[in-house]
Amino acid sequence: MMKKTFLLPFLAGLFALNLSFAQNPSLGPCGTTDGKSDWLIAYQSHPQGFPRDADTLYVPITIYIVGTDAGTGYFSLTSLYRAFCTLNKDYEYSAIQFYLEGDINYINNSTYYDHNFQQGGQMMQNYRVDATVNCYIVSNPADNCGYSSYNNGIALAKSCMGQNDHTWAHELGHYLSLPHTFYGWEGYDHDYSQPAPSQIDNDWVERVDGNNCDFAADGFCDTPPDYLNYRWPCDGNDFSTLKQIDPNGEEFYSDGSLFMSYSNDNCTSRFSEEQIQAMRANLWTEKLEYLYNQDAPGPVDMTNFTALTPAQEEFLPTFNNVHFEWEPVPNATIYSLEITTLQSFVVPIFRYYLSEPNFTSFDLDPTRKYYWRVSAFNNYESCPLTSEIFSFETGDVLNSTAETDLIKGISLSPNPVAAGSEVLLNFQATENLDLECTLLSPAGAVIWQKNIPAARGQQQILFQTDGIPAGLYFLQLHTSNGIVSRKLVVGR
Ligand SMILES: [Zn+2]
Repeated sequence: MMKKTFLLPFLAGLFALNLSFAQNPSLGPCGTTDGKSDWLIAYQSHPQGFPRDADTLYVPITIYIVGTDAGTGYFSLTSLYRAFCTLNKDYEYSAIQFYLEGDINYINNSTYYDHNFQQGGQMMQNYRVDATVNCYIVSNPADNCGYSSYNNGIALAKSCMGQNDHTWAHELGHYLSLPHTFYGWEGYDHDYSQPAPSQIDNDWVERVDGNNCDFAADGFCDTPPDYLNYRWPCDGNDFSTLKQIDPNGEEFYSDGSLFMSYSNDNCTSRFSEEQIQAMRANLWTEKLEYLYNQDAPGPVDMTNFTALTPAQEEFLPTFNNVHFEWEPVPNATIYSLEITTLQSFVVPIFRYYLSEPNFTSFDLDPTRKYYWRVSAFNNYESCPLTSEIFSFETGDVLNSTAETDLIKGISLSPNPVAAGSEVLLNFQATENLDLECTLLSPAGAVIWQKNIPAARGQQQILFQTDGIPAGLYFLQLHTSNGIVSRKLVVGR
């Protein structure tokens, strides 16, 4: 099942947890086993016969965030947008830029969430969309940080998708035809104090003097020899600390700055010129259908950001139903609204992703000072540009007086209500309505949701509070022209 979600409140704790993910040491760096594609073999036999240009190429990516059967374990939107920002920075010099095509898809499937290659292959077959790079973010992609299935899709571990990780760039390199810099050495056991053999299986071992560079290893002459087939640390110049010896007895160190090596993520920062030309030629020929949309929007422009409500330092009598609104930001289609009680924003209390420049919060506490700010981005540009910080104070008026034209005179009784007892919702409908009724926790979690047809006139609806823990809740009535919220206290 795929479902679309966009508006999700995030608790700060979850956010901090995702940011602190380091690369998971129990996962291998990469599980890609495609070998050299026929396309790459043809390309490397005469690269000058392939198209070459300098324009930025825009490539669609379809995102699948995979959770468990119960819908838990999703990679957060905050982490996704941060990782996507890193990805496009990694490809900026290549003049290849990715964009998020369509909605973000959510898949609830424990087998795919923690999968082996066979299950992952099935997942990619089930959901594959043509002419887009299908990227699946899971917990465990066959015990690797990621792998690419050529022309099929990419699986990525959420623990290897931090802001400073480059697994995504590496796997997209594979997807766009690039082998590892140490191609041929995958899985080969070698005593690095000894000279390398001239060949491993049928693959030639690349030599330091460069005279076999156009067919040995990855077939690129500007990626020097590299025999390191495990995750390795680099020195201050991004070279390996382990010395290797080529078949001629020449000593060298591997260049860890290349994304297609297995060096640690803090070492990697680039593709070589020949790698870039190959990826671009791969898009221009074999993956031409991916280039169906080259109309990127202009840059997101936050320079004249204007907040409308709450006004700066405004005192609001109520604390629920706080309406936030700002002027649309040029070229932005996604906003994140952060609300916090600490001006530093070290820990935002709430973060909402929105497609419109406004939001009504039912989550705030009475008599507190709050700070808020907005970040704006779009499906091409997810490195957040953030507004200045605004503030306001809430009062202690419990119930909002806000009502829509469609429902009036709303009351809940008794309120507080003893846990397990019935609550009567009273209101007057000015026409026949389809009401969606939602009970939310103060953190914004949906406790339950019901659809209620209400005829014009006075309405009384009885609710059970069975199984609802004691605490503060908000009952929301969604109508076609707005949301009305009432506080409900469930006692012990
Ligand atoms: Zn790889």
